[in-house]
Amino acid sequence: FGAGGGYGEQEGYSEERNSARRVADHYSARSNQTLEERENSPIIYLKKLNNWIKSVLVQLYARPGDCVLDLACGKGGDLIKWDKAKVGYYVGVDIAEGSIKDCMTRYNGDSDQQRRKKFSFPARLICADCYETRLDEYLCEDAPFDICSCQFAIHYSWSTEARARQALANISALLRPGGTFIGTMPDANVIIKRLRETEGMEFGNSVYSITFGEEYTEKKFPASRPFGIKYKFHLEDAVDCPEWVVPFHLFKLLAEEHDLELVLMKNFHEFVHEYMQRPEFLDLMRRLGPLGDGRSGQSTLSQDEWEASYLYLAFVLRKRGPPPSQ
Ligand code: SAM
Repeated sequence: FGAGGGYGEQEGYSEERNSARRVADHYSARSNQTLEERENSPIIYLKKLNNWIKSVLVQLYARPGDCVLDLACGKGGDLIKWDKAKVGYYVGVDIAEGSIKDCMTRYNGDSDQQRRKKFSFPARLICADCYETRLDEYLCEDAPFDICSCQFAIHYSWSTEARARQALANISALLRPGGTFIGTMPDANVIIKRLRETEGMEFGNSVYSITFGEEYTEKKFPASRPFGIKYKFHLEDAVDCPEWVVPFHLFKLLAEEHDLELVLMKNFHEFVHEYMQRPEFLDLMRRLGPLGDGRSGQSTLSQDEWEASYLYLAFVLRKRGPPPSQ
C-alpha cells in the first residue's frame, strides 16, 4: 500500500462532490430535537450508549488545558464531554451549515435544550469539508492540537483515496507530536460479514438497515479497489444517507503513512465489556442509563439497538514523535 499508489478509477469528481453534498444536506436538514422528542426516540438507549463510549474516550485521552480539534463536530453534542474534561480550547469543524449553527447555539447556551452555564473554554466553529479542504491553512493560528476527535464521521472520507488521504493529512498536520486522535466509525468486518450472511443486498433490524447496490451482487470487494464502496445507511430517527466501507487494515496503513500509529481498536461490544469493568465508567453508564442499573422496571437498550451498536468500532491513534518538552 505505497504512497500515492493508484487504486484504479475512482468515482467521477462531480459525482463525488454530489455525494458529499448529499451527506451535508442530510445532516444540515436534521433540526435540533426537543428533550421530549429525544427521550421518545426509538434509539434513545443506543444514543446514550454512543455518548457513554465517546465520554469514555474523552476521559481516557483528554487532559486539562488540552487544545481540541473536533472534526465533523455536528451539532456539538460532545461539547459537554470536553467541558467535563476541562479542556482549554475547542475548534469544531463540520460540512453541514445547519449543524454548525446549532453547535453555535449550544455553545452560547441559549437553546431550550441547554439552560446551563456557558462553557469554560473559548471555541471556534468552522463550516468546511474536512476531507477536501487543507485545514492547516485555515487553522495555522490554532494549531498544534493536543487531541483530535472524529466521531461517527471518518467513513465519509472513504469515498475516494484522495479524500481519505486529505482527512489523515489534515489530522497529522494539525496534531502535535505525541498528540492523540480518537474516533468511532462503522466496523467494515461486521458489515461485510452480515452482507455475506444475508440472501439479498440488504440487512438490518427494526432500528437500522444497510443496502448495497447491484454492483456488489457477488459480494466481493477486490483489494485493488478499497475506496468508494458505497452503501445506503438508514438508522431510525438519525441517519439516511450514503456511507462508505472503511477496511480497517487499510485505514491503519494509510494512517501510518501519515505518522499516526494505532494505539487501540475495539468493536463497540468489546469496548463496552472492557470499560464497564472500571468503576468510574460503570458509574457513568448508570448515570447515563443505556444499560440500566439492574433495578427492576428500568428500561434499557433493546436487542435491536445492541445489535446496531455491533456495527461500530472505536479507535485511538497517536501522532509519532516525542511530545514537546514542558
Ligand atoms: N461527531 C458528531 C457526533 O458524534 O455527534 C456528529 C456525527 S454525525 C453521525 C456525522 C457528521 O459528519 C455530520 O455532522 C456531518 O455533517 C459530518 N460530515 C460528513 N461529511 C463531512 C465532511 N466531509 N466534512 C466535515 N464534516 C462532515
